[in-house]
Amino acid sequence: RAKSGGRNQVVFFETGMQSEIELRLTMERELSQAMDGGQLQMYIQSQVDRLGTPVGGELLMRWHHPQRGPISPAIFIPVAEESGMIIRLGDWVLRQGCLALNQLAGAGFQLSLSVNVSPRQFRQPDFVDKVRTVLAETQADPHHLIFEVTEGLLIDNLHDTIARMLELTRLGIRFSIDDFGTGYSSFSYLKKLPLYELKIDKSFVQDTPGDKNDTAIVQSMLSMAEHLGLRVVAEGVETRDQADFLITNGCSSMQGYLFGRPMPLDAWIDLQRKVVLQSSMSALSAPEKS
Ligand code: C2E
Ligand code: MG
Ligand code: MG
Ligand code: MG
Repeated sequence: RAKSGGRNQVVFFETGMQSEIELRLTMERELSQAMDGGQLQMYIQSQVDRLGTPVGGELLMRWHHPQRGPISPAIFIPVAEESGMIIRLGDWVLRQGCLALNQLAGAGFQLSLSVNVSPRQFRQPDFVDKVRTVLAETQADPHHLIFEVTEGLLIDNLHDTIARMLELTRLGIRFSIDDFGTGYSSFSYLKKLPLYELKIDKSFVQDTPGDKNDTAIVQSMLSMAEHLGLRVVAEGVETRDQADFLITNGCSSMQGYLFGRPMPLDAWIDLQRKVVLQSSMSALSAPEKS
């Protein structure tokens, strides 16, 4: 099967490798070393409401390769998915997310954290048990946890997928459809799945409000989501014009460089603490009303 990102892999792993297979084996081996060697880091990007206030964040993985420099998850996640390494990576991300939730809760925040869950990870027979275990071990509150899944998950075994989603929903976890509109979209799954949120893919957002077609598509997605009672996060918001367009059309949450780049998880948590501290200090120093 041809891999998306295959061409990018060649760019990153150019040095005299014979074949696609050799390329992939090299990346697999290095990815495994990366896990053990602490080259993988958890980043997070804010999701904000219409006022620009953070309502949560999405956990995004980063690979700092000692020789090749930073490697995008768009390249190594598909390799990890094919090799099965995604299971280890996914376990790690989930644990990081739970620990981060505890830190946030400890500091008094009501922020939710979104974790990307790949199809292979979701389909492991013991996935629900694993989630239960990590929740029990970390004591994190599942009500602040959102799992982002892609439409690809819904191609086969829709029945099993729904059953599993319901099990996790009963634990308090919410579900989001990531990159909405780019996959095997079918309107029928929207009413069958226990969903909380749609994430409008950045490819639809990037040319709004100038492009007529994208504008129409985004407006339709927003209105459909509203009628279905789903929260929407627009991805890849980079300009004020895009944000204004989205807000005017009823979009409740946004994520993108306009509001902040992905940053290391610890720094993000510190930043949230500082923001709260600053607003409570300015409240203290504000002149009192008499
Ligand atoms: P995604 O889940 O759709 O994540 C959104 C991507 O858009 C991220 O790319 C983010 O950095 C990027 N982005 C955010 N704002 C903007 C913007 O304003 N403009 C543009 N051009 N891009 C923006 P990133 O971090 O490179 O991740 C790529 C993909 O890799 C993710 O897409 C997700 O599918 C996958 N991924 C990342 N971390 C994980 C993980 O822990 N587990 C799994 N299974 N997949 C992951
Ligand atoms: Mg995502
Ligand atoms: Mg996405
Ligand atoms: Mg994407």
